[in-house]
Amino acid sequence: MSFFDQIGRQITQGVDRAKFEAEKFQRTTRLQGEANELRRQVDGKLAELGQRAYELQRAGQISSASINELATAIDQLRSSLVAKEEELKQAQSEVFVEPPAPEPTRPAPAQQVPISYDPPPPTPPSTKICGVCGFQMPASAMFCPNCGTRVG
Ligand SMILES: [Zn+2]
Repeated sequence: MSFFDQIGRQITQGVDRAKFEAEKFQRTTRLQGEANELRRQVDGKLAELGQRAYELQRAGQISSASINELATAIDQLRSSLVAKEEELKQAQSEVFVEPPAPEPTRPAPAQQVPISYDPPPPTPPSTKICGVCGFQMPASAMFCPNCGTRVG
């Protein structure tokens, strides 16, 4: 076989192979889909059978310990489901509550101006007397301004 014949043969094989792989992929994908559909139907019928067995067990028409066990487990799961759905409904209805805002600083209410107004008597400035020199000074003074004695 010549060199070129070999190349040609490889190309032909490549095309055949690509075609084969494409057709295989198509075929397996279709079969996979059909198998999945049949499996889904089996599951559906099993669920129906289970429902029927549950009803017959509850109606007392069949008596089977294992079916009774399954029916009891289903009842428990259903009551858990009801409680969970109630909890979910509660959680969904919760609303954000704003934290209490600090009291806004309101302006002081306008002072009512009295019609007749007696001014309060002037309060005498609070003073104190230096114990050393007798100097009168403001009560807030720490030292006597006259003699320097500590008075605060
Ligand atoms: Zn003094």
